[in-house]
Amino acid sequence: MSTLTISGLSATVAGKQILNGIDLTVSSGEVHAIMGPNGAGKSTLSAVLMGKPGYEVTGGSVDLDGTDVLSLPAWRRAAAGLHLVMQYPTEVPGVMLDDMLGEALTTRGRTTDGLRDALAAEAAKIGFEERFLHRPLNVDLSGGEKKRNETLQLAVLRPTFAILDELDSGLDIDALRDCSRRVEEMSNDAESPLGVIAITHYNRLLEELKPDHVHILVKGRIVESGGPELAEVLERDGYAAFAPEADLAD
Ligand code: ADP
Ligand code: MG
Ligand code: MG
Repeated sequence: MSTLTISGLSATVAGKQILNGIDLTVSSGEVHAIMGPNGAGKSTLSAVLMGKPGYEVTGGSVDLDGTDVLSLPAWRRAAAGLHLVMQYPTEVPGVMLDDMLGEALTTRGRTTDGLRDALAAEAAKIGFEERFLHRPLNVDLSGGEKKRNETLQLAVLRPTFAILDELDSGLDIDALRDCSRRVEEMSNDAESPLGVIAITHYNRLLEELKPDHVHILVKGRIVESGGPELAEVLERDGYAAFAPEADLAD
């Protein structure tokens, strides 16, 4: 059982205050949805958690089972068990998906024995075409294929915590269902239940990926937390009910 504790996290981007004291605790097997309007700071939160360059932490802490995450360089955060599924997966010409996963497992001190079989099995489960497994990463894949690919990487790497930044963007309904079901399954895994922070605009993702907790992020602050019913309130009433003064332009 692992716990990720975010306390009072504040950060600036290009000198502009974006995160204003985020408190969030996620344990293994829990699915936390973070919902918020465009520009609320959702992607900034994921970038700061992963140590992406260009973001300055101005306050607070992030603790993963006693490890001070913010003091680690980005690659060590991944090795420590944090994994980001990016909103826009990058195309990496020249890097083969299977080779990259082999390297990532090795970096984490894990075996690559049986990787080929594991990849084939996961590809079948997630509906990712096997012929894409030994191809340059994400190159020429459709939006749905990229997200299936990202979900496959998550399933093979099995981090302790996954941050999904709009897994539902650029995805058709079938891919959305396949990806979110696989994530849901990992969160319910008896041996190593995945902890999930699912960032999304829409309730649609949450109908498949059933969150235990829903948080509403507005202007870099969590303004409301609750259960899945909160997502339904949002779907009905929009963000205005939670942040009348916020810029809710889509
Ligand atoms: P969300 O993911 O919730 O839509 P973001 O975290 O991407 O929001 O952005 C939050 C705010 O930070 C926005 O106002 C955005 O313009 C600003 N921002 C994000 N990244 C940068 C950057 N690299 N340079 C300047 N401003 C940025
Ligand atoms: Mg975003
Ligand atoms: Mg669960």
